[in-house]
Amino acid sequence: MSDVTKLIHEYLRHNKKFPHVFCAGCGHGIVLGSLVRSVHALQLPKDNVVIVAGIGCSGRMAVYVDFNTVHTAHGRALTFATGIKMANPELHVICVMGDGDALSIGGNHLIHAARRNIGVTALILNNQIYGMTGGQCSPATPQGDLSMTSPYGSLEQPFDTVELAKAAGANFVARSTSFHANQLDTLMQQAIMHPGFSVLEALTPCPTQYGRKNKFRNVVDMYTWLKKNTVKVEKLKEGDTRIPTGVFQMLDRPGLEERYSELRRSLRPEE
Ligand code: SF4
Ligand code: MG
Repeated sequence: MSDVTKLIHEYLRHNKKFPHVFCAGCGHGIVLGSLVRSVHALQLPKDNVVIVAGIGCSGRMAVYVDFNTVHTAHGRALTFATGIKMANPELHVICVMGDGDALSIGGNHLIHAARRNIGVTALILNNQIYGMTGGQCSPATPQGDLSMTSPYGSLEQPFDTVELAKAAGANFVARSTSFHANQLDTLMQQAIMHPGFSVLEALTPCPTQYGRKNKFRNVVDMYTWLKKNTVKVEKLKEGDTRIPTGVFQMLDRPGLEERYSELRRSLRPEE
């Protein structure tokens, strides 16, 4: 039994349940567990880790961890994260956002963080819907899927987070799901440690807002769907329409904060 599991068992001996807001079956808790396990496995001192969260169900993750945390405005998490990393380049800054947060209201910040290649890890929990606000269509809702604002099926083409981040210039781009917890742990550790801007998309089931509207009977159906409809990118063959998972881009260009430090050193060599 790992130290983290022992701590959880100890907590549950004194408390009947965790004081969190996630609905039963929500995939976000699995991503939160992966984040905690990854920081533990990497043996990062808690004081060197900063979680910057946006607004939404995923934003609550900042409230449940004992790192430095900032719960920011909707869509603006990456702007706070950029400032923190520029001022304190030695910190591991992890920005937690939902698909609405990262791809809609914060979409511009995402592409510019990637273009600048700021040394921040963007963890994007994609449940294909706005969960906390009642199930509105997001930029990740698949075309034809039902939501509160698309009762006859969405007419819009969704963003592909991976392709967007790659094209915008992120150093590290990966995707996993709540169903693939081991793969998620591995990619989370890589994303945290990779220099420059890292994007890790985690597909997570939202049984309450997305699942019910799209005729999934229960969360087991949603995990079964994730299992059947995803494939490791190395095994993807031409014509395969499943969603690829794994690492899609790994570059080693210096992060913005590194280039800034070099500039400062060249302008003020005495510092
Ligand atoms: Fe999770 Fe959806 Fe419930 Fe939010 S609304 S906590 S995303 S299941
Ligand atoms: Mg969402």
